[in-house]
Amino acid sequence: MIYEYECNNCGETFDVWATLAEKEEGIKPVCPKCNSDDTYQVLGSVNVGISSKSGGRGGVPPGCGPLSGAGCC
Ligand SMILES: [Zn+2]
Repeated sequence: MIYEYECNNCGETFDVWATLAEKEEGIKPVCPKCNSDDTYQVLGSVNVGISSKSGGRGGVPPGCGPLSGAGCC
């Protein structure tokens, strides 16, 4: 299962892969951008009233993110 998480610290959204068992045990994903563990799960299919956030992620294109290292772009 893929779960989408968002960082409370920097607002980064990222996907976390975990089995149902792992999820039930409680996973604590760390933000790939700022290494904060202050993250929460984003339930993409649930309308939480944030209509302005349509389109979901955007922003950093694949392969060109902050983790790609120097010389990427
Ligand atoms: Zn972060």
